[in-house]
Amino acid sequence: MRTLFIYPEFPKTFWSYEKILELINRKVLLPPLGLLTVAALLPQSWEMKLVDRNVREVRQEEWDWAELVVISGMIVQKADMATQIARAKSRGLPVAVGGPFASSTPDAPELEGADFKVLDEGEITLPLFVEALARGETSGRFTAGGEKPDVTGTPVPRFDLLELDAYSEMSVQFSRGCPFNCEFCDIIVLYGRKPRTKTPQQLVAELQCLYELGWRRSVFLVDDNFIGNKRNVKLLLPALRQWQIEHGYPFSFATEASVDLAADQELMDQMVECRFESVFLGIETPDAASLATARKLQNTRSSLEESVEKITATGLRVMAGFIIGFDGEQKGAGQRIVEFVNRTGIPHAMMGMLQALPNTAMWTRLEQEGRLIQDSDAAKGVNQTNLLNFEPTRPIRDIAEEYMEAFADLYEANAYIDRVYSYFLKLPPQRYKQIRRENPPSGPQASAERGISWVDLRALAIVVWRQGIRRDTRWRFWNSLFGMARHNPARFTGFISILAHNEHFLEYRGIVRREIEDQLALLPPDPPERARVPAEPVLVPN
Ligand code: SF4
Repeated sequence: MRTLFIYPEFPKTFWSYEKILELINRKVLLPPLGLLTVAALLPQSWEMKLVDRNVREVRQEEWDWAELVVISGMIVQKADMATQIARAKSRGLPVAVGGPFASSTPDAPELEGADFKVLDEGEITLPLFVEALARGETSGRFTAGGEKPDVTGTPVPRFDLLELDAYSEMSVQFSRGCPFNCEFCDIIVLYGRKPRTKTPQQLVAELQCLYELGWRRSVFLVDDNFIGNKRNVKLLLPALRQWQIEHGYPFSFATEASVDLAADQELMDQMVECRFESVFLGIETPDAASLATARKLQNTRSSLEESVEKITATGLRVMAGFIIGFDGEQKGAGQRIVEFVNRTGIPHAMMGMLQALPNTAMWTRLEQEGRLIQDSDAAKGVNQTNLLNFEPTRPIRDIAEEYMEAFADLYEANAYIDRVYSYFLKLPPQRYKQIRRENPPSGPQASAERGISWVDLRALAIVVWRQGIRRDTRWRFWNSLFGMARHNPARFTGFISILAHNEHFLEYRGIVRREIEDQLALLPPDPPERARVPAEPVLVPN
């Protein structure tokens, strides 16, 4: 079977990083790991091609070659999913869809043209799909019926199908599921609350495959909560450390984890020794009342600021997600987030207005309360510039205004340099460098660290020109550069690279304001405020 995998296009979001990618001459941040896994789970006798629409268009000869089209995507990709289904159908090709969007809303109008809906986790439903094809069936819907597969048999994703040079990072996955119970989260709906992990050998085999394909850049562990099963993570990390030592530490890692990572020093130490360089934390808000409303109680058990400090002091750069628009939230939530980010110095703070995702506990509650706005513009996709897709308990215009102001403050060019500088002064030298010096790699496995390329030099020249000469940031830029060289030279390169990221955020500030103002202009007057409002904002103790 000649199978064409298509990964739909993403709209421009905070995470699309166009300006950064332009600087480093890459097209996309991360590859479509789900589709690569699907390709590995299907019969390997099938011929396969993959087109990531974020990299390029599907070529005419690829449409002509295909006998089956497989499309997978997330809710933000649904518009292009519909377009690609229509294009395949117009050529008379059978289409199978799967992935998070199809699994959570299989009857969505965007998926109407698909012949096969292969839902839930592919380890269970893909064999059912293959059997149906073998019986000559031309349509069908396959679900796991609530069953969650053991992922210890999941094969190495088909990384060989990628145009590797288009990506800034590669991704691998160790676990699925998360033990927590955040009301707005769809991960626990899709993958359950009992984290299932691969074996250390499986993950190492995936890294080995990437290494043999010539990959030498970052690898993102896309687990929604990497430390959801701490016991198994602590079995993985020694194997990962050993593999890195034997190969000369060719990869740096990043991942997502819950804030309780800060309470486990041993785990953090193991991570930095494997060359984990950054970790994304879902902090959401410093308002304890909102965290309780969102059932994110794990973020209220200890001081969020101290947790960020501990993780930073271990050598992991913290990135964090923040949300505005929780029920009962008090005026000023946006500025409280800005103050928290400035106090902790977190360089990359992603902010969004709360969205109810289909089938989550929050969605069900809001549906019962009659507060969902399902036909709103916001319901058409979920990204950082969408207004809330439900009626909040305070005026939506206040929330949107606070959001725009907070985002603008966070990425104001001078404030950004100050924050990144103060943060990088706190980061200790990377521990893996010492380990590598003590254990120099030898033999065919050895790998030289990726050197500085002309693309890096060009990117540096652009950043110096824009931030150090053209803009009014020039004084801070040079001052902080000399400061880093003097006080924390081990982190100098990383510091410049994070400064470069503001080329994206600065542009995104304008997009945020424009898109939100357009949506506000179409809104009817605000309904009266709801009554369930606590008297005072409650902050997490520090
Ligand atoms: S900690 Fe993160 S992944 Fe886990 S339930 Fe909460 S939001 Fe979802």
